[in-house]
Amino acid sequence: MDNCIFCKIVAKQIPAAIVHEDDELLVFKDINPAAPVHLLVIPKQHVSTLSDCTEAHTAVLGKMLALAPKLAKEHGIDVKTGDDGKPHGGFKTLINAGPDGGQEVYHLHMHVYGGPRPWRGLGL
Ligand code: AMP
Ligand code: ZN
Repeated sequence: MDNCIFCKIVAKQIPAAIVHEDDELLVFKDINPAAPVHLLVIPKQHVSTLSDCTEAHTAVLGKMLALAPKLAKEHGIDVKTGDDGKPHGGFKTLINAGPDGGQEVYHLHMHVYGGPRPWRGLGL
């Protein structure tokens, strides 16, 4: 897609701090992080918004979500059981869709937030 900033990152026309790349997905650090770890998981193929997705996108959406635990482990934000036997750490995934959903970049992306709180942003 012309003029899509995330397609330009996929094409390596503009730089990004890429932390994962495979045939279908690219993951890079958010340029304006709202948490100590803030990653964006995107499909390499342009999809504007989750609101355009159908059953045809089930596989790629599943891959995006299924990648989160691996990314979380690599960035030290996976859920661990402490000495007290309780869960510690952890992360949040988020997909914004459309203006009311807070979407600013119209190339489908899933946020992965984690790290010690407080985090910036309402509702995070
Ligand atoms: P959203 O509001 O869900 O559309 O989120 C868009 C996100 O993309 C924001 O958190 C921005 O900080 C981030 N972003 C915008 N441009 C870039 C870029 N060139 N590299 C990395 N992250 C970006
Ligand atoms: Zn795009």
